[in-house]
Amino acid sequence: MTTQDWIENGLSELRALGMERTLRQFQAVGGKTRDGAHETLNFSSNDYLGLARSGKLAAAGAAALKSYGAGAASSRLVCGTLPCHAELERRLAAFKGYPEALVFGSGYMANLGVIPALAGRSDAIFADKLAHASLVDGAILSRAELKRFRHNDPRHLSELLASEQQARRRLVITESVFSMDGDLAPLEEIAEACSRHGAMLLVDEAHATGIFGPGGSGMVRELKLESRVDISMGTMSKAFGAYGGFVACSAPLRAWLVNRARSFIFSTALPPAVAGAAAGALDTLESNPGLGRELLQRAQAFRLRLKEAGFNTGVSASQIIPLIVGKNARALALAERLGASGIIAVAIRPPTVPEGTARIRLSVTLDHSPRDLENAADRIIDAGYKEGLL
Ligand SMILES: *Cc1c(COP(=O)(O)O)cnc(C)c1O
Repeated sequence: MTTQDWIENGLSELRALGMERTLRQFQAVGGKTRDGAHETLNFSSNDYLGLARSGKLAAAGAAALKSYGAGAASSRLVCGTLPCHAELERRLAAFKGYPEALVFGSGYMANLGVIPALAGRSDAIFADKLAHASLVDGAILSRAELKRFRHNDPRHLSELLASEQQARRRLVITESVFSMDGDLAPLEEIAEACSRHGAMLLVDEAHATGIFGPGGSGMVRELKLESRVDISMGTMSKAFGAYGGFVACSAPLRAWLVNRARSFIFSTALPPAVAGAAAGALDTLESNPGLGRELLQRAQAFRLRLKEAGFNTGVSASQIIPLIVGKNARALALAERLGASGIIAVAIRPPTVPEGTARIRLSVTLDHSPRDLENAADRIIDAGYKEGLL
């Protein structure tokens, strides 16, 4: 078989399963866009606080760009650590309530670098069944033994920890707000299990940072678990409206990561403009500490409305609201009908979510006014009836 043949066969297989993904071009970032007279509500953006197009962030990014240039010119360990990186890390640590923080090229790179720095061949990793691909990839790359505990089930985690006694070190991994279901992890119980069994704990706060906790500092801080969560990971690509990943941790752990996290060591430092924009997001959060709370209130009203109409919104308790419809084809049909009514919402299918739980993933952002959300709910419910889902 030629290269072209196997690729074409693979693609037609995906197509037949309703699993082929293709790229689509958007004219602009934002939860609400206008194209002539036509208004579109975009529910697939992770720009939760509507900061990506903020003038404040653009100005902060432009100032850093002007001071330091377009690129950082080398990795952080060589000559890529600039004042904008040091300042950003100092502020991220304070924001998260940890002694130190370390910035990575992206959230994906943070997980890919941190996990293998903490666990290796003689170790065991315990990850929630629904943990994000970047966490799973980090675990695979580490070559540690990988065990999955049932989603949000600290008892199952405890059982697995108790049954695994040989490992030199043990690392537990979870998200605080899950990306595809919008539900919250029982972090206190998980931290308790880790303490009891002497395991390290990494919490990925990609979808909680900027939204949950005091001033948007996340769930770890909300629950005052800073001393029990060894690594609090976050991204500046979502609610921060910029780009880049980071971890907050102790000083020795940061020093270890600087020496051992390969995605940190062997990649160029974050571009100054991006570091500047992320600092601009921190400024915005500091002067508007209620943004996350406002978002969660709007999302709750929206979710309730959809739920009452008969949609299965699963166990969502955040700005991420799934409409679980089951079959891939149903999710695709609903997404298409919503698209025709000016609502952009992506169908999420396996392998991103478990088999038989294809869904529309709605993410509410502050670009959506309460009125937009009422409007959108009307249109979504109408589409649900027309698709025979309600
Ligand atoms: C988006 C996401 C990441 C990756 O963050 P990026 O900055 O986009 O690379 C990591 N973990 C979770 C749970 C995510 O949702």
